[in-house]
Parts: sequence; C-alpha cells; structure tokens
Amino acid sequence: MSEIQEFRAETRAWLSENCPPGARGPGPVPIGSKSIKLDSDVRLWLDRMVERGWTVPTWPREYGGAALTNVEYSILIDEMTRISARPPLTGRGVNYIGPTILEYGTEDQKTRWLPICAGGEGAWAMGYSEPGAGSDLASLQTKAVREGDNYVINGRKTWTSDAMYCDFIFALVRTSPEKSRYDGISLMLIDLHQEGVDVTPIPLISGASPFCETLFQNAIASAGDVIGGVDNGWTVGKRLLQFERSTHAGINISGSQGGRSEVSNLPELVAKYVGMQASKIADPAIRSRTIAHEMNSHAQKITQRRAIAELSSRAPGFTSSAVKLTNALNLQEADELLMQAMGNCAHHWNTEGGATEAEVAAVKKWLYNKSLTIAGGTKEVQLNIIAKRVLGLPD
Ligand SMILES: Cc1cc2nc3c(=O)[nH]c(=O)nc-3n(C[C@H](O)[C@H](O)[C@H](O)COP(=O)(O)OP(=O)(O)OC[C@H]3O[C@@H](n4cnc5c(N)ncnc54)[C@H](O)[C@@H]3O)c2cc1C
Repeated sequence: MSEIQEFRAETRAWLSENCPPGARGPGPVPIGSKSIKLDSDVRLWLDRMVERGWTVPTWPREYGGAALTNVEYSILIDEMTRISARPPLTGRGVNYIGPTILEYGTEDQKTRWLPICAGGEGAWAMGYSEPGAGSDLASLQTKAVREGDNYVINGRKTWTSDAMYCDFIFALVRTSPEKSRYDGISLMLIDLHQEGVDVTPIPLISGASPFCETLFQNAIASAGDVIGGVDNGWTVGKRLLQFERSTHAGINISGSQGGRSEVSNLPELVAKYVGMQASKIADPAIRSRTIAHEMNSHAQKITQRRAIAELSSRAPGFTSSAVKLTNALNLQEADELLMQAMGNCAHHWNTEGGATEAEVAAVKKWLYNKSLTIAGGTKEVQLNIIAKRVLGLPD
C-alpha cells in the first residue's frame, strides 16, 4: 500500500469511529463563539477534530494544525464528504484572520492567536466596511491613536456580520491620517468584550439580523496586536480579502471546508414543479437552462479542484476573485432557475398561504443569495480585479 493509500485508509477508519451521528448531514457548524451553546455531538466532534489538528488541517502542528499536504487535505475532504461529516468549525478565525496571521504575524502573534482560532475558542467579526467605505475601502475613517503600549480606537464599522456572537474583531483602522489613503492603514485585533465597544444588530426587512453596526469609543487594542506592521494594513488587509474570497469560492484550504461540493439535486427539484422526471423535463426552455446549469456546476467543481491542486499557499491570490465570482453567479443561477420552475409556488414569504416550508426556504435562499455578489467585494469590484490583475488590462 502506498503512503497515500495508507493515509486514506487510516483517515476513513478514524472518521468512521470518531464522527458522531449528530455531526453528519445538514446542520449547524460552530463558528467558535463562547456565547453559542453547542449540541453534545457537535461539541464532541469539534473537540476530537481539534485534538487531531483537523479543524485547520494544513496549518503547522505547533499552531494547532496537522501539517497536511494538499493531496492529504483533498483526501480528508473526500472522506468527510463520503460519510456526510460536517466541518467541525467554520468562520473568520480559521478561514480569514488565522491564515493571515500565519503569513504576516510575528512569532508571538502566531503563538498567542492561532491556537485560539484552531481550537474554536473565540469567534471573529470582520471590521472593514464603514458607512462611507465599501467598495472604496481606502476611504475608511476609523482612527487608532498610539498611547503607550496600546492604541485607542474611535469610529464606526458597519455590516459586521455575526458581531453579536463574536469575541474578537479584526479591523482596518487609520493609524497615520497624514499619510496617503493607502499608506496610513493598519490591521488590528480588538477584543469585543470591553467598555468602549458597542455592537448593535441591524434588523433586516426579513426580521433576521445577520449584520451589526460596531461602534468604537475609546476602545483599546494592544500595540502588539497590529498584524503585518503599522501602516502596512492595505497590503495585509488585501491578502485577508483573498482568503475571504477563496472561502466563498470553496478554494481556501485553511479550514476543513475548501473543496467541498454540494450534491446538487436541482434537476429533481425543477422537475418536481414542471412535471416529469429529471431526465425528461417537458418545458424545452427550462430543460436547456437546467442542462446548462448542470454543465456549469460541473465545470466549477473541476475549476475548484484544479485551483486547490495548484495552490502553493492556503489560498490563491487574484484567482480567488475569478472563482468567487463564477461560484456566486452559478449559485444565483440555480436559485433563479428554481424560482422560474416554481412559478406561483415561489410567491410565499411564510407558510400561511399554504406554501410548504421547503418552498419558503427556497424563496428566502434565492433572496439571501443575492448577497453573494456583494459580500466580500461586489461583482463589479471582482471584474475590475480580474481585468487589471489577472488579464493585465490597462486602468
Ligand atoms: C452578506 C454580507 C455580509 C457582509 N459582511 C461584512 C462583514 O462582516 N464585515 C465588513 O466589513 N463588511 C461586510 N459586508 C459589506 C461588504 O463588504 C460591502 O457591502 C461591499 O464591499 C460593497 O460595499 P457597499 O455596500 O458600500 O456598496 P458600494 O461600494 O456603495 O457599491 C454600490 C454599487 O456600486 C458599484 N461600484 C462601486 N465602486 C465601483 C467601481 N469602482 N466600479 C464599478 N462599480 C462600482 C458596486 O459594485 C455596487 O454595485 C457584507 C456585505 C454583505 C452583503
């Protein structure tokens, strides 16, 4: 047996013995927050995977990982998918700030923060956007002023997803307002549980509040928690965005989610509404749209696998923009297609009018997935990056 075959056999045996039933199939994946209570199976799964280093399988062992190679990583994901094992941990700790600290952090920062991310001992919010700074991120105004060993932070971050459940936030702040707008920014780690930080959920029309506004009024961050050097935040912060976009694209191999592909039952769902079996959808327009979508999904999966195979770090650079965008457009097309097939059944916001829960969920997913071409940088911003950085077109 080759080493790779041995690795697969051992992985399969270990997963089968250690992944509890409550951690298989659809269900919640912890974001590492101390304020969310986990079901016992989910907790057990997280603890076991942390011990094995498989919450962050490619990270070095000394920081909580298992130092898996890309090939071993892909085998682990295949084997987890085979038994429908859920990722043990997700979120901005393992996927965004953790790999950024691995690339840009000092040894002290790595030793201090990475085991916290890998162990799911704290959930992270992302403090980039501000009321006046979205696509034009360099317009950000939140200020951090050095006082002794600390920075004192004042300003307002918006759209901070999940901040009400989070323990920490990584934020882009202006440390040298006198410098050019790109040169005076730093990436800083800030404890959310302190006086001077106010987190307010933003209620949406749907009734949900996935976002918050996070206000800093003389909040404190340690000067030792600036990642990648003072005033170097534009460079470090852009790399973090590549980790974010790669996560959206399914090609970030920091946590144990990269390279997973959802098993699509779209043709069956479409066929349910327009009649006939999946292989014989009667309406020719819907049939050809379904076939085109299946082909694009297959191409997307192959692209994801190729991107992972070619990685020399935990996520690609500008390629992340291209794969994030095609992934988002493909998922949105699936929703649009299903809505077209559902017809009148797609007009319900709740079950009161006789719609099923699955129909209401499909409508909400269709609306939510509109955000896939906004979050992590809009479609137009990704197209600009692809034009300039991937294709080398002039400004
Ligand atoms: C689900 C979701 C979760 C999010 N979570 C977070 C989070 O946790 N933390 C955080 O910091 N932010 C978060 N955001 C915010 C997100 O990063 C911003 O919404 C995004 O960067 C766009 O900024 P904006 O909303 O200010 O839109 P704007 O920048 O005002 O853009 C408005 C429109 O103008 C277009 N546009 C802008 N500039 C250009 C240009 N140069 N060329 C062509 N078109 C342009 C845009 O593409 C867009 O269509 C989240 C957003 C969503 C939807």
